[in-house]
Amino acid sequence: MNFSQIPGRKDVASKLVQTVKSGRVSHAQIFAGAEGGSGLAFALAYAKYINCEDRREDDACGKCKSCVKYEKMAHPDLHFVFPVVKKKDKDPVSDDFITEWREFAGKTPFFTLNSWLDCIGASNSQGMIYTSEASEIIRKLSLKTFEADYKVMIIWLPEKMNDASANKLLKMIEEPPDKTLFLLVSNQPGKIIATIVSRCQMVRIPRIDDSDAAAWLAKTFGMAEEKAADISHVSNGNMAKAIELCHDEGASLDNLERFKDLMRFAWKRDVLSLINWSETVAALGRELQKEFISYSLRILRENIMLTLGQGNSGIVFMTGAETTFSKNFHPFITENNIFFLADEFSLAYAHVEANGNPKAIFLDLALKVTKVIR
Ligand SMILES: [Zn+2]
Repeated sequence: MNFSQIPGRKDVASKLVQTVKSGRVSHAQIFAGAEGGSGLAFALAYAKYINCEDRREDDACGKCKSCVKYEKMAHPDLHFVFPVVKKKDKDPVSDDFITEWREFAGKTPFFTLNSWLDCIGASNSQGMIYTSEASEIIRKLSLKTFEADYKVMIIWLPEKMNDASANKLLKMIEEPPDKTLFLLVSNQPGKIIATIVSRCQMVRIPRIDDSDAAAWLAKTFGMAEEKAADISHVSNGNMAKAIELCHDEGASLDNLERFKDLMRFAWKRDVLSLINWSETVAALGRELQKEFISYSLRILRENIMLTLGQGNSGIVFMTGAETTFSKNFHPFITENNIFFLADEFSLAYAHVEANGNPKAIFLDLALKVTKVIR
């Protein structure tokens, strides 16, 4: 990851570059930004720049021995700590999952904890940094550097450390071995123990501007600029979400069609079509059903905002197709039915999650919508 590959936020990049040029690289820093943002991307680009053997004016060269190893995230002086889950009985450490991590984070540095846990087949677990990790950090950092100027320890989501492990890390940050750099990439710095926060330099990573995100998406996915602008607007600075939306742009259109059908049949009180509709949705599979319900809740939320005259306030996030549909649809969503609808969709979600009978759940939902949509 080079600075030039990160969408927008040239201000952050240039501040980080400046710390290197002026020889004021603080040995422990917290890169704090929202989930799905560019915190990890900046940490990777910064560490690569620091260790580059042929630094350019404002970026790493990308070609030297160090850069090549950094690119594969396999430099012997680059260490990673991230939330993991128990495999067997013993407490796991990040290195148990390092192959998966290199492949996953190597594809894109924009992702969420959930997608990482999905990748290691642990979507139902919490993911945490165990006490065993602290001893591993100490062991690694007491080794001599192999090749680089700096040993770098990137800790992704330090807020997931348990207390024992955080306290051990604190000792390392208080008395760091020579030429060691801790980069803590956090989505919730308020949840890191205060004694660590007070010993780190805080680097705020602001959200990526919509226009920068759109330009990056258009280039990366080769998509039309208008489409990319829609997606970056909907994802609200969360690049992980934007990338996901680019991948399943088709799914989102399908959900819009499903939602439109439901509302149309409900308005017409066309019970036969509603039965067919619920059977079609029931055949989708649980994950897709949940996605459809979440999608519907979002569309309902955006439509009530339009009805309340908040359409230009910058809090409505819709794609072009959604906007076209909502122009005529939003008057049907009002203060009189939004609470009922939101409750019913949420209830359906809970029932799907609890493995209820999908035909019954969706027919029931469809009939409830019919009651309040006129
Ligand atoms: Zn280089």
